[in-house]
Amino acid sequence: MAKQRKIIHVDMDAFFASVEQRDQPEYQGKPLIVGGQPNSRGVVAACSYEARKFGIHSAMSSSRAYRLCPQAIFVPPRFEAYREVSNQIREIFWQYATQVEPLSLDEAYLDVTYTADFDGSATRIAQAIKAEILTKTQLNASAGVSYNKFLAKIASDMDKPNGLYVIKPEQGLAFVANLPIGKFHGIGPATEKKMHQLGIRTGGDLREKSLLALVEKFGQSGQYYYSIARAIDERPVRSTRVRKSLGKETTFAEDILSVALLTEKLNELAEQVLTKLSQQALQAKTITLKVKYANFQQVTRAQSVEVGLDLHAIKSWIPQLLQRIKAGEQPIRLVGLSLSGLEKIGFEGRMGQLLLV
Ligand SMILES: [Mg+2]
Repeated sequence: MAKQRKIIHVDMDAFFASVEQRDQPEYQGKPLIVGGQPNSRGVVAACSYEARKFGIHSAMSSSRAYRLCPQAIFVPPRFEAYREVSNQIREIFWQYATQVEPLSLDEAYLDVTYTADFDGSATRIAQAIKAEILTKTQLNASAGVSYNKFLAKIASDMDKPNGLYVIKPEQGLAFVANLPIGKFHGIGPATEKKMHQLGIRTGGDLREKSLLALVEKFGQSGQYYYSIARAIDERPVRSTRVRKSLGKETTFAEDILSVALLTEKLNELAEQVLTKLSQQALQAKTITLKVKYANFQQVTRAQSVEVGLDLHAIKSWIPQLLQRIKAGEQPIRLVGLSLSGLEKIGFEGRMGQLLLV
């Protein structure tokens, strides 16, 4: 049986509006609307939680938002600022996930099935991601944790703002059964109405319909509805890019001078990094050695090659890289090894790479 997946959906809270409130302290605690001015034909791109209390929501016309809340502050969007935060949070995602699929600037699916941090606890990984986002951006995110994309996405919405909601494998079916059909991601208002006419108000109702009946009524989507009513969603988390590098480092309990010992440690790191690389079907063409001396001075040395590095090749470069930093002359407190110049490899290459580990 395939390994049970661990999927996290991360979604920033009231994203554009929160960035504005962060950067302009006088906006904090006030109804704030990012989008068109009230007297324009524009719409609300995003609004703060304070504005939502007045019934304002995104995609509403700015003029209507103004009628609902004349004291609201209207500001135009600053996409460069949002993009900068977006890049920051994606960097954080890549530290923890082997696949990252952004849905928008402030939302992404993460596959953490093979993440070893926190003993592989997806909940603790989600907590760490939220904490790091807050530290680096001063913004709150909500996270949903589950075993597929459909449930993770719904979960991230359950506990907003600053939420963390987990749907465990044994809870999935009951969770879906109790969920109103309009809350299902992928079921819009029109479909919701059609389902209500068919007497389908919850996931439980949906599950009672046969596949044939659903396909007859909803065409291709019928298959999807049939699956999600059973909390089944096999869609993989698809990365739109591959990560730039993958590495591991270790700090010694006592500073090390011995070249033989350093080589041994680096060989271990090489095996760990290459195993991770294989799991993601990636190969590398650059190997970088990093050392931190006892005096905290840090140096790196890199070597690039023409063909993808296997374990044998990496191990054969380690002594040379150590020579280039004149290992053995100064005590070292930390060594790290990272692989970059990453590209996707096919199944055969992946098996070959793994056999050598
Ligand atoms: Mg959001």
